[in-house]
Amino acid sequence: MQTLAIDIGGTKFSVGAFEADRLILRETRLTDRRAGPDRMLAQIEQIFRLWCDDHGFRPQRCGIGFGGPVDYPSQTVTLSTHVEGWAQYPLIARVQQFAGAPVLMDNDANAGALGEALYGAGRETDPLFYMTLSTGIGGGIIAGRRVYRGADSFAGEIGHLNVEPNGPDCLCGSRGCYERMCCGLWLERDYGQPASDLLQDPRFVQNYVVYLARGLKTAIMLLNPARIVIGGGISKAGESLFIPLREELNRQMTAWSRARREVVPSELGDDSVLFGALALAKQITDT
Ligand SMILES: [Zn+2]
Repeated sequence: MQTLAIDIGGTKFSVGAFEADRLILRETRLTDRRAGPDRMLAQIEQIFRLWCDDHGFRPQRCGIGFGGPVDYPSQTVTLSTHVEGWAQYPLIARVQQFAGAPVLMDNDANAGALGEALYGAGRETDPLFYMTLSTGIGGGIIAGRRVYRGADSFAGEIGHLNVEPNGPDCLCGSRGCYERMCCGLWLERDYGQPASDLLQDPRFVQNYVVYLARGLKTAIMLLNPARIVIGGGISKAGESLFIPLREELNRQMTAWSRARREVVPSELGDDSVLFGALALAKQITDT
């Protein structure tokens, strides 16, 4: 059984080919935000056709992790400031058309959560909270090995918690949002350096983890997850980030709470969403 998996993000997009649970082909390209969805889909189709011709790739199902809000029941992209041009775009129909196989889509944080829960750092741990910490911040909740989406597909949207009420303006209209204080896009704009460089400086990290821990504390108080898995580019900073983060989280946690505080980096790295897209696609053929 072969599966086409697509991860559409604001900075880059990836296409993967799975043979059963094995990722056999993958390609990542940079997202040209101004070029819009048509250009990106043309590139995805081109990669797909090449794989069909050169490797005999014939997927029977497709999964998509999309980097923006997705209304799961209607399988459509919800209007968002981050994903201009995508809201009315017939993404599912377009992929179905060239791949010739059914498609299931979710937002990339939910897909990443599912990928880590079934194939990565979240195996054997349930419930699980997954957070992607990259250009933006997204969250996904897994309970009973399934994504918890809430009443309107908006559960897990941790990026706009106000972690600094008097903080700087966020694009959403509020102030001091978690994403505004901690995501890669804003770190680079505020400090003029990429997050990967900033995180080399222990003094910067000491201050950064104060905000980062505030969001995780909220997740723990609300969900009491068995584990928190952090994916996305910033999580690649490794233990120089995770050790101070765990210390700060322990300091902030409500004293009487005995909720576990297990925070680990993703195991699948750049492939969490592709594996999540595989898990989504499996739901098409397994039901
Ligand atoms: Zn915000």
